[in-house]
Amino acid sequence: MDWLAKMLQLPQQFLFSSGGKGGGCIQASADDATFVAIISARAKVIKQFKDKTKGQVLDKLIAYTSEEAHSSVEKAAKLALVEIRCLKTDDKFALRGTTLASAVREDRKKGLIPFFVCATVGTTSTCAIDNISEIGPICKEEDLWLHIDAVYAGCACICPEYRPWINGVEYSTTFSINPHKWLHINPPCSAFWVKDQELITEPLSVDAMYLRVRSANTGVTVPDFRNWHVQLTRPFGALKMWFVFRMFGVHGLQERIRKDMAMAKEFEALVLADPRFEIVADVVSGLVCFRLKGDNAQNEKLLSMIDKSRRICITPSISRGIFYLRFCISVYTTESRDVAFAWEVIQHEADALLSS
Ligand SMILES: *Cc1c(COP(=O)(O)O)cnc(C)c1O
Repeated sequence: MDWLAKMLQLPQQFLFSSGGKGGGCIQASADDATFVAIISARAKVIKQFKDKTKGQVLDKLIAYTSEEAHSSVEKAAKLALVEIRCLKTDDKFALRGTTLASAVREDRKKGLIPFFVCATVGTTSTCAIDNISEIGPICKEEDLWLHIDAVYAGCACICPEYRPWINGVEYSTTFSINPHKWLHINPPCSAFWVKDQELITEPLSVDAMYLRVRSANTGVTVPDFRNWHVQLTRPFGALKMWFVFRMFGVHGLQERIRKDMAMAKEFEALVLADPRFEIVADVVSGLVCFRLKGDNAQNEKLLSMIDKSRRICITPSISRGIFYLRFCISVYTTESRDVAFAWEVIQHEADALLSS
């Protein structure tokens, strides 16, 4: 986890080797990472209200994320029994500081207790990047737990030229990326860091005699990862990360990300060269969002024809009522010829649709 944190140039506080309280572990998934973050944040804020019952605080808690955040954030809030507000984004689908600040102000006036923000670096729909440098200072000022879900695009931050996407990460309490999304490690592999381990381990720890064995007997203190997540038994996820890091090297992984980005640009150029199609969001990563210039129904029809062809598989999304298709390059065996092949299939189906 320290290796990966160093690749990402995370602040020292997130590293075990800093000698401080921080560290990282592999969570079962990004859904788990966000869930652990929100329940830990909930425990922290409940403790601050000594004159109120847990229920009284719980009733007033309010979390924030953007309308473009992944479904896992809403799910985490649902499981944690707290309200969440999905805030409006700007014209690039990103959450801005001023939007968060006014929501917090409004809610405090209503007597609610703001406690948690989940910002996204690389939303699932369009790879929008929330403005962490704006959001971070507000979280600090308002004493809100900032969790950064950078699970897809965060992988690219191992390249110095993309590292600015997570500028402001020093304001976050927890941070996560999914090496299984874009660092060639087979799923599941979700990396999660916390600045202060106790924030997580205190609410998640239970003590049972049969679990107590190792550290007590060996005298070696190692992080007891069972207290960092919901599951007890853990797969040996570190081993597959170790192999991939040793095999590709940091440089190899960086080159692969750059190559994927270049191929996304190739695909974008193909789309732009066909006047029947349009690009829906800026292409900043391996993801290209595109659609036929036309109504949603036509695009839904195109998607179902592509599916029925059984040659490629495309996942759609919808933003502000606009339905579109998503083409994403993230597997290390993908080459330009695969991109060209996919575009041929898409064009072929579009020809059939538009001539029918
Ligand atoms: C994929 C994705 C997730 C969910 O990841 P899992 O590991 O499958 O839970 C969450 N957030 C974002 C932004 C994602 O792209």
